[in-house]
Amino acid sequence: MGKIFAINDLRRGLAATGGHAPASSLLPGQDRLDTLGRPLRDLRISVTDRCNFRCSYCMPKEVFDNQHAFLPQTALLSFEEITRLAGLFANAGARKLRLTGGEPLLRKNLEHLVEMLAALRTPDGEPLDLTLTTNGSILARKAVALKAAGLKRLTVSLDAIDDAVFRRMNDVDFAVEDVLAGIDAALAAGLAPVKVNMVVKKGTNDDQIVPLTRALQARYGSAVVLRFIEFMDVGSTNGWRLDDVLPSQEVLARLRESGPLTALPATAQGETAQRWRFDATGQEIGLVSSVTQAFCGSCNRARLSTDGQLYLCLFATHGHDLRALLRGGADDAAIAAAIDHLWAGRDDRYSALRGAATPPLDGRPTPADERRVEMHYIGG
Ligand code: SAM
Repeated sequence: MGKIFAINDLRRGLAATGGHAPASSLLPGQDRLDTLGRPLRDLRISVTDRCNFRCSYCMPKEVFDNQHAFLPQTALLSFEEITRLAGLFANAGARKLRLTGGEPLLRKNLEHLVEMLAALRTPDGEPLDLTLTTNGSILARKAVALKAAGLKRLTVSLDAIDDAVFRRMNDVDFAVEDVLAGIDAALAAGLAPVKVNMVVKKGTNDDQIVPLTRALQARYGSAVVLRFIEFMDVGSTNGWRLDDVLPSQEVLARLRESGPLTALPATAQGETAQRWRFDATGQEIGLVSSVTQAFCGSCNRARLSTDGQLYLCLFATHGHDLRALLRGGADDAAIAAAIDHLWAGRDDRYSALRGAATPPLDGRPTPADERRVEMHYIGG
């Protein structure tokens, strides 16, 4: 770093500087490292805070009912604003962009944004790895347009193969078969491989681990990679209890009853999932263990909320207002300096600290924290 900032300024982030960060001496493409030596590689962009599902672990119906005030249209970053920021993040080291939400496919004309982001290049002239996370509900209608716009691949969330369990979990009576039709359409359009995320909640859908694994293997072979996500204490509305977390090691033990698996090496630095492959079929699965085996040490992700707040951790309690800079007329150099400044001060490692403070997995809830940001607003 060419500049030394007062430690308090870094802690308080952009607000401490009155919105104007000191000019950055870093060049485009030069690695930005945070206080723990972690580079910036991955930008997750929430394009809407709305979703058509009401999964109890994410947007429970009782909280997100028709009285809930979602963001007004004017608060949302426009496609031009998102693209401008994404370009600056690419200069700061981002190599991967993930569109998320809320349900990203609910954002009108999302394929236009995909097209704009697909045209971005890294300082080395490479395209960015452009992907999307969706609940799959309208994917069957959108897959061809998304592929044509330049989307490379995508992740579909699916928490059960049993229709009754799935309908209960999404809490809007949406059928499994309609999500599978979305995956079919994505593969047919050439969006491959498709990753499927299953959030495992003990006592709710853990009996789906083996059936979902088998069903996806039977229907898609190696074109779909299933990943099991530990139920996380994101946000403050999902009633999270440690008791409801099924540790990834138990997921693995249950899968082993179907046959031996071999661990695979990580494909990318900072990868969230530990990869495994069934010896007999070659089917790959992933385990995302953010509760029981925190991976903060390699976390290279930044998150941009629907209304342009930058969050440096999924479990953050506050963001940094990049929209104010955009709409206040800041030039690219000023916004780039703000991004560099914020990343340089990043010291978040919530899951590692939670792990250290958490009692053994004996069902006791962890102490209440400050109110954390909701996941549908900053994206998964
Ligand atoms: N609507 C899209 C979807 O369903 O994939 C994108 C947004 S959603 C917030 C992104 C991912 O976060 C989904 O795979 C969802 O299952 C996961 N998720 C939400 N709340 C979670 C929690 N408490 N623990 C673990 N994963 C969670």
